[in-house]
Amino acid sequence: MKESFFVNKNGFYGEFGGAYIPEILYKCVDELKQSYLNIIESENFKQEYHALLKDYVGRPSPLYYAKRMSQRYGCQLYLKREDLNHTGAHKINNAIGQILLAKKMGKTRIIAETGAGQHGVATATVCALMNMECEIFMGKTDVQRQHVNVERMRMLGAKVHPVTTGNMTLSDACSEAIRDWCSHPDNTFYIVGSTMGPHPYPDLVARMQSVISEEIKWQLEEKEGRNYPDYLIACIGGGSNAAGTIYHYVDDERVKIVLAEAGGQGINSGYTAATIHKGSVGILHGSKMLVMQTPDGQIEEAFTISAGLDYPGVGPMHCNMAVKGRSKVLAINDDEAIKAGFELTRTEGIIPAIESAHAIAALKKLTFNPSDIVVLTVSGRGDKDLDTYLKHKENLSSNE
Ligand SMILES: *Cc1c(COP(=O)(O)O)cnc(C)c1O
Repeated sequence: MKESFFVNKNGFYGEFGGAYIPEILYKCVDELKQSYLNIIESENFKQEYHALLKDYVGRPSPLYYAKRMSQRYGCQLYLKREDLNHTGAHKINNAIGQILLAKKMGKTRIIAETGAGQHGVATATVCALMNMECEIFMGKTDVQRQHVNVERMRMLGAKVHPVTTGNMTLSDACSEAIRDWCSHPDNTFYIVGSTMGPHPYPDLVARMQSVISEEIKWQLEEKEGRNYPDYLIACIGGGSNAAGTIYHYVDDERVKIVLAEAGGQGINSGYTAATIHKGSVGILHGSKMLVMQTPDGQIEEAFTISAGLDYPGVGPMHCNMAVKGRSKVLAINDDEAIKAGFELTRTEGIIPAIESAHAIAALKKLTFNPSDIVVLTVSGRGDKDLDTYLKHKENLSSNE
């Protein structure tokens, strides 16, 4: 039998994954592991989850045929519009799912980590909606860089804790959230923002985002008379929008999977977040994955203009798929992403998040047949990135 790319019963994807956690968390991680599938597969949960996705988030998100971009790249390009979700990105799909799960497990207090603040805003939003106590851990550097999102979280009623250890960025915020969880294991639910963390989080988050590919299936059937594309393209930080995009196609070999990670200033520049290109096997935040680290195992800081891709590790499902050759991972540099963001804006009138612009830039590196159906996920909208786009625009050579 062929090996599956989904998690096995021990919580591993090939050699990656698992749950490397301090003793004190064992009970709550085990409780989550024992109950998550029963709860999220129950009719009662599904009904509530899908009703909120429809009326609160605004799903299904459109599958838009991008005519001018299709002509430019010589393929049939569809954009999966996660940028049109409430709060502006795919992260809300997961936040809604996990808070419903937390409620059903009887938890009363929510914690989360955030980098750019997108997951923090999504979590604060669902906590306001569900009337739950909410505490967000965010590196102090990010608190300063992402001030608007901090204000949004506070307006939504969340308490934001600036983290002052390490580089004071996302990775440190994760460590701090885990530390908080250790001190309040009984009443607290940790809403993890991407396909990372100890098992069962990577699987839980992938399932919560799988609504993306579930919709792509019937939307393609409607538009093209067949329910699968030739290519799926998504950007990858921790891996949640990518996991949601590919979920129902992972074992379908007709579908090629292309993922765009953040090359930063170049994968050999010393300023990169291209974890799959530059990482080696290590353990970070409870999971075995590819991690950027020094030869003696110190975690290296990730560099990219894209705050949402700024993480030195990458989820275990994607590590396994990449090393087994199921996915092709491209490193997209800062300037390529900026250029691609302007290109989509001027060609289709859609300003993508700088993260999503990495996926757009991947189009240039692929060769298509004119009949190839390509589905690319626009993970979020670019309003939050206007300063970054404008600041880097003058560095672009031609085009604009
Ligand atoms: C957070 C974020 C990402 C990266 O996270 P994944 O878990 O890899 O999807 C990508 N795009 C946007 C818009 C984000 O907010």
